[in-house]
Amino acid sequence: MADCIFCKIIAGEIPSKPVFEDDRIVAFEDVAPQAPHHVLVVPRTHFADLHEAAQDPRLLGDLLARSSAIARERGLTDYRVVVNTGREAGQSVFHLHLHVLGGRRMTWPPG
Ligand code: AMP
Repeated sequence: MADCIFCKIIAGEIPSKPVFEDDRIVAFEDVAPQAPHHVLVVPRTHFADLHEAAQDPRLLGDLLARSSAIARERGLTDYRVVVNTGREAGQSVFHLHLHVLGGRRMTWPPG
């Protein structure tokens, strides 16, 4: 999608710090980390949000499994996977992404 920042990262038009990539998924470091570990796990296909991506449940499973693999590779036993959906929930980039956050104590509920 032309004006999507994550599509541009996936296309290599904007630099990122890559963590993982295969034919369907890329992962890279969040530019403004909210924890010592903060990785974004992103489908190559542009889905605006979780509602759109729900048409591909296999992909959603793969995104979660990849989030687990990244946490495991980093030795994270305690971590959080977040999918903000909609502006009021904190979504600012409208290309589905899973936040993998770890390396510090988390509070609940989120603000
Ligand atoms: P959300 O607010 O849930 O939509 O999350 C969007 C995330 O993308 C935020 O945590 C931003 O820090 C992150 N972000 C925005 N631009 C970039 C970028 N160019 N490279 C890496 N992360 C980014």
